[in-house]
Amino acid sequence: MTGHFNMGVLMGHFLKTSENVITYYDTNKNERDSVLRKLQGIVEKSCEYEEKFNHMTRTIRELTRSMESSGDPEKNKDLFKEKKNELIEYTPDVSNNKNLREYLSQVQEIVNCTDGTAEPTQDDDDDDIEMTQGEINVIDPFTKKRMTDPVKNKACGHVYDRASVTQMVNVNRNTKCPVVGCGDRSPILLENIITDIVTRRHLQNNPA
Ligand SMILES: [Zn+2]
Repeated sequence: MTGHFNMGVLMGHFLKTSENVITYYDTNKNERDSVLRKLQGIVEKSCEYEEKFNHMTRTIRELTRSMESSGDPEKNKDLFKEKKNELIEYTPDVSNNKNLREYLSQVQEIVNCTDGTAEPTQDDDDDDIEMTQGEINVIDPFTKKRMTDPVKNKACGHVYDRASVTQMVNVNRNTKCPVVGCGDRSPILLENIITDIVTRRHLQNNPA
């Protein structure tokens, strides 16, 4: 676990906020899209901060290590100067940030559902991961019960109930995705778990 900076919790709040915006502005699509654009700007900034924070943590760790092993005050001064400039100049490119991409795709899916344009959300190449509308799974693969708080595993795209995946991983760090045929055989990482508002909405709209 990375600790310090819990991006998963923050992304969950952003997703729920977007969902509320989409519901609230249901009759005013222009206003809705403008609010969503503002929110997207904030999400992008947050992803940038996260990457900056991680980069800074890494750089400082490296610097500490090199200074300790060098032990030469003059050389350390140079090392410090060099790293300091590197930190100042660092500007992350978040266009491929996993959290940002996941956020955008979930929001887009809900907008499509609301607007009734839920047909194929453009062909991207990782559509063996995505499920199309109408095939939304509501059963938690761990407990085989209907989910109440669905979360998505960013590593493979499969969805579980938050409580069951958290419990399984806490009991056994080697827990793998239980979905039959899942291509990802590495252990589930809790930092890859993100709120799934698409499934949650589907559960609300289709009560048991
Ligand atoms: Zn999976």
